[in-house]
Amino acid sequence: MEYYDVIIIGGGIAGCGLAYNLKRIGYTGSVLMIEKNEIGFNEKYGTRTMFEEIINEYNFKPLKTFKGIKIGFDDEPFITIKTPVYLVEYKRACEQLFKKSNANYKMECVVDVKGDIIVTENNSYHSKYIIDCSGTSFFLRKKLKLALPFRYWVGDVSILRNNINIESDHIYYNYGDKHGYIEEINISPKYITHGYWQYVKNIDFSQIKPPEKTFYKKHLVNTQIIKKAKVIIPATPVLPLVYKKIAFFGDSFGIASSSTAYGTGPILDSSKILSIAIKKGDLKYFERVWCKKYFKSYFRSILSKYDGYHDLDSKFIQKLKKYPSFSKPAKRFFTINKGEDLLKLFKDPTHQIRMPKEVIKMFPKRKIIFLSIYYIYLKSKYLLMKLK
Ligand SMILES: Cc1cc2nc3c(=O)[nH]c(=O)nc-3n(C[C@H](O)[C@H](O)[C@H](O)COP(=O)(O)OP(=O)(O)OC[C@H]3O[C@@H](n4cnc5c(N)ncnc54)[C@H](O)[C@@H]3O)c2cc1C
Repeated sequence: MEYYDVIIIGGGIAGCGLAYNLKRIGYTGSVLMIEKNEIGFNEKYGTRTMFEEIINEYNFKPLKTFKGIKIGFDDEPFITIKTPVYLVEYKRACEQLFKKSNANYKMECVVDVKGDIIVTENNSYHSKYIIDCSGTSFFLRKKLKLALPFRYWVGDVSILRNNINIESDHIYYNYGDKHGYIEEINISPKYITHGYWQYVKNIDFSQIKPPEKTFYKKHLVNTQIIKKAKVIIPATPVLPLVYKKIAFFGDSFGIASSSTAYGTGPILDSSKILSIAIKKGDLKYFERVWCKKYFKSYFRSILSKYDGYHDLDSKFIQKLKKYPSFSKPAKRFFTINKGEDLLKLFKDPTHQIRMPKEVIKMFPKRKIIFLSIYYIYLKSKYLLMKLK
């Protein structure tokens, strides 16, 4: 039976980012990645938006650079965040990280884990640490009957060939009506990715309600569909992150931003903490340091889903529409300094948007009471997970 110090299950951005960062910090142990497909295969045609820090740190070669993000309600953009956003081919990014690592790779499917023995369809492996980067299959969490994330972005996403040569120098997020959906579109010379998203409690795709007014749907009729998929992004971290000699990482513990489902940035950032934990020989360091850095404010971020601006409770939005700066330079409405706060919300799962006092006053009292109770509920839920 082959032995490796670290076995990573899954070769997406989490597994590959970890393998790369282990090498970067000078970890000398042996590392094996077991991926049932090719590396990054899950997203063969998929692209991901990333921000400057990640592009520079990991030297990714973007397919396209956008000038910024346009956000609107019902197809009318009212905020433009001026920041470069890069569109990166997912598979290529994973391959690039993996190539720069010291990890070995086996294309096998893990079917079981018994203690520190990993069983694939063809082989068995023995290891000191197992890192579950199996994404939304939650392979080990399910096997060990551990808690799963409790909020998800569910998406109905199409990847289209850009054979009609439409151009856009911005990414679009279109928040709309009482259903609280988001329509997202990004256009590169090669592909157009168009999707409807909904933030939900249970994975149920019937909850995705395409909006009546959309930014780009009307332009997409003559485009060739390459892939259509119903997808999920877990967006509430779930404990434990470490269970005996196993650490859970990436989508397998729900690390993406609960505000915007931005996953690659927080994953790559956290992979540095996990790689240090492995080098130190103390997996619990990962849980401790990760919780310290991210967890407290994650509550607030989850809570911001209920603060009325994401839920788009219709009465609240009606009131909001009367807020003076909403219709004019709507930038001011979120107390944004040149879009900085909103940008933080996009990038950072821990950021809670600061609303102007006038807007907070518009909250119905019932909502504030509900939020307080929900906050206590969340805290106790996580406390119980920690104690288990
Ligand atoms: C449609 C979509 C659009 C998104 N857009 C963005 C975006 O624009 N920007 C952004 O930052 N984030 C985005 N995200 C979120 C981000 O892509 C994810 O958070 C991130 O890719 C998760 O990476 P991962 O490595 O944890 O999982 P994955 O990339 O899913 O990798 C898991 C891997 O594990 C393998 N695996 C599973 N089970 C086994 C097994 N038993 N044995 C062997 N291998 C196994 C799978 O084959 C897979 O390759 C998006 C997500 C989706 C779905």
